[in-house]
Amino acid sequence: MAVPLFDIKPQNHALATELQAAFARVLASGQFILGPEVQNFERQCAEYLGVKHALGVSSGTDAILLALMALGIGPGDEVICPSFTFFATAGCVTRTGAKPVFCDVQADTFNLDVADAARRITPRTKAIMPVHLYGQAADMTALNELARQHGIKVIEDACQAVGATQGGKHVGSLGDFGAFSFFPTKNLGAFGDAGLLTTNDDSLARQATLLRNHGAHPKYYHQFVGGNFRLDAVQAALLAVKLPLLDDFARKRTANAARYTEHFARLPGVGTRLLLPTAWPGNGHTWNQYTLRLPGAGRREALREWLAARQIGTEIYYPVPLHAQACFAAVGQTDADLPVSARLAGEVLSIPIFPELTLAQQDEVIAAVGDFLAAGK
Ligand SMILES: *Cc1c(COP(=O)(O)O)cnc(C)c1O
Repeated sequence: MAVPLFDIKPQNHALATELQAAFARVLASGQFILGPEVQNFERQCAEYLGVKHALGVSSGTDAILLALMALGIGPGDEVICPSFTFFATAGCVTRTGAKPVFCDVQADTFNLDVADAARRITPRTKAIMPVHLYGQAADMTALNELARQHGIKVIEDACQAVGATQGGKHVGSLGDFGAFSFFPTKNLGAFGDAGLLTTNDDSLARQATLLRNHGAHPKYYHQFVGGNFRLDAVQAALLAVKLPLLDDFARKRTANAARYTEHFARLPGVGTRLLLPTAWPGNGHTWNQYTLRLPGAGRREALREWLAARQIGTEIYYPVPLHAQACFAAVGQTDADLPVSARLAGEVLSIPIFPELTLAQQDEVIAAVGDFLAAGK
């Protein structure tokens, strides 16, 4: 039986009637950009996340860019972010004219190492951007304290972590800004590109709202240069159908993760040849990915091929740490400077975890991983 890494169809098909009704409503309204559908979704998100302001935007990438622009970050400034993350985190920093400064991550959580970030603060540092990788919050208590001491801002890249919590509070409500993505493979998946920017600060919300629409206020009068970062009404209307189900999706992902861990923990070689992901106490992990680590040269590729031969989908998030990307060569950081990020990029492999994964499908993955280790690989 084929086991895809991810399949959005069962979730969307189960909701087809409600989704079609939402689509028909937008079609009839004739209003396709921002407007009441977006405002309704923003209210729903603000309430769910426990934040004062939630702005619907065009993508997770644009949410990050908009946060940086609203903070006035630009040439001469530095923004610290982990090297082990998706490209957009640092790409947006460069697009503002500022310099990304990469910090290392912790191997057990895959999240930013706060002590390492602290070492990289300079008088030019304007913000730190933790990434809640794979659906688990970075250490926001320590990070907010560090930022407070140095008078710098915190932008949460929560693009993989909608619904995740720390100390009972939602990510995106813990820093100065939170950026979310509704790319179809994220836990709350749209029907195209979509994102959300959150903040509890009234003046930052006002500035971000202006910049979302070319900085115009009133219409056609521009005191600031913004962009087109607006959310479509159709995405908002469809997402509003799925948001009430998000916690249920996360419960299913969490159950899948617990079942993987329960079975894998019994395998000979676990802890040495196979390392399992962990949820930290106090964190509500939403398991956007379940990511294994396979130490030893070529072993990650060997498992990937082994699973592919059994029609089991996997992905490498991410094969190249950002400090080693060609476009960031000018930043001038090396593997020796970011050893954990460099090592993880060679070890990680994400396996199927989506909510609708069946027990039979999951059993195939569990058996295939067990066979791989039993074969002495
Ligand atoms: C998905 C993702 C983004 C970008 O989101 P888009 O909606 O695809 O633009 C940014 N950061 C991280 C960590 C992501 O996983």
